[in-house]
Amino acid sequence: MAPSLPDSFDVIVVGAGPGGSTTAAYLGRLGRSVLLLDKAKFPRDKTCGDALSGKSMNVVRELGLVAEVEKLPHGIIKGATFSSPNGKIISIPFPSTDPNRPGGTGYCLRRQHPDYLFFTAAKNTANVTILEQFQIQDVLMEDGKAVGVKGIDLTDSKRAERTFSSKVVVGADGVNSIVARAVLGEKAQLDPSHSCDAVRVYYEGITGMTNDIEIHFIKSIMPGYFWIFPLENGRANVGLGLVSKDLQAKMKKDKTNLVQMLNHIMKEEPLFKERFANAKPMGLVTGWRLPFGSYRRQLSGNGWVLVGDAASLVDPFSGEGVGNATTSGRLAAQFIDEAIERNDVSALALGPYEVAVWEELGKELSTSYKMQQLGRHEWLLNLVIGKAARKPAVRDLISASLASDEAKKKFESPLTYLWLLLT
Ligand SMILES: Cc1cc2nc3c(=O)[nH]c(=O)nc-3n(C[C@H](O)[C@H](O)[C@H](O)COP(=O)(O)OP(=O)(O)OC[C@H]3O[C@@H](n4cnc5c(N)ncnc54)[C@H](O)[C@@H]3O)c2cc1C
Repeated sequence: MAPSLPDSFDVIVVGAGPGGSTTAAYLGRLGRSVLLLDKAKFPRDKTCGDALSGKSMNVVRELGLVAEVEKLPHGIIKGATFSSPNGKIISIPFPSTDPNRPGGTGYCLRRQHPDYLFFTAAKNTANVTILEQFQIQDVLMEDGKAVGVKGIDLTDSKRAERTFSSKVVVGADGVNSIVARAVLGEKAQLDPSHSCDAVRVYYEGITGMTNDIEIHFIKSIMPGYFWIFPLENGRANVGLGLVSKDLQAKMKKDKTNLVQMLNHIMKEEPLFKERFANAKPMGLVTGWRLPFGSYRRQLSGNGWVLVGDAASLVDPFSGEGVGNATTSGRLAAQFIDEAIERNDVSALALGPYEVAVWEELGKELSTSYKMQQLGRHEWLLNLVIGKAARKPAVRDLISASLASDEAKKKFESPLTYLWLLLT
């Protein structure tokens, strides 16, 4: 560890993933001194589906990184293919009017690349100090207020312990956040009804790939879904996820697990066995957990703020978390800056951050939770996807819902289903 590092900063950001790096970059721009630390050495990998949502791209745009993203190895995404449990397939283009996806174009990038971009953007920002391979063990508290962190230098064979102090500590340390556990105690535990377990593996040589992300609702893994997301040079990110509670029940009932389910789909399922016949895995299957924003965790308190997965903000329908991590990071920076300016970093002073997060993301998260609940019903997926396969008007509605929360909300209305039945 660089011995010359100061002991004290305005803000310490724990975790330099998209959430932490965004928080640090915005705070640095606002002139606050920031220590951004991570236990990993960058570039580092992160288990993910690798789809960079329109919302992630907004922050990429604001940080001036679009051209950099386009230089990285990536898959170009023009729409989404869905299949229903009874085997109907539809391809829905992204609407060209989507403000988050100019030209109706999205990206899939292996996470080590965009994460390194966010990390480098933070590193190159004035006032941001980077500390890699430093693992936080605890948050330092004084009279119920977070005042710093304690951790170990992973490069030191003696595992030397060091403390840093700050006005505000930001927990951006992912789903198993040490910061969240330190400030929230038992309330930081994940609810298996509001979290998901997922695995992914990289493949090359899958046939029938297009510029669509593919989401398949397969009978044998309901109520979960299987995905194939296109990457650069014909490669793909292939994975499968289930709400943790459903997975636990399935493992007990069917004596199976996520890796076995994944292998079964690729080898046995009629829609996929031909497509994977000559495909080759590139590396091992890895798994991780997604904390859904359908459970509202406390996001700020005396001297602390949580962002991204540490704040449990993943979309409960799509599984997207990068956009909500960067959005919460941007908001956190704004409200932390204002609190420091007023010389008051109490829970009351940082509370508006939480209000702003739910204002910006709350509606969308609750619509997505309802969609996730509806998606549990095979007959409904068969109805919607089956009708969409035949009727352009239904395809248009799904296409609009990929771009707008208002359109997505239509799927909450019984009238929509009546219309589908009668169409
Ligand atoms: C299988 C799977 C598929 C997914 N697919 C998508 C997708 O296609 N699109 C999408 O948008 N999202 C997807 N997600 C969700 C997405 O990966 C997360 O929401 C996103 O990574 C959250 O970013 P973050 O910065 O909050 O946390 P992370 O990216 O997890 O970063 C946390 C950082 O904290 C560091 N850290 C952890 N503990 C400590 C510690 N004690 N001390 C110091 N540092 C620490 C870690 O090293 C890490 O760098 C997927 C997730 C999974 C598991």
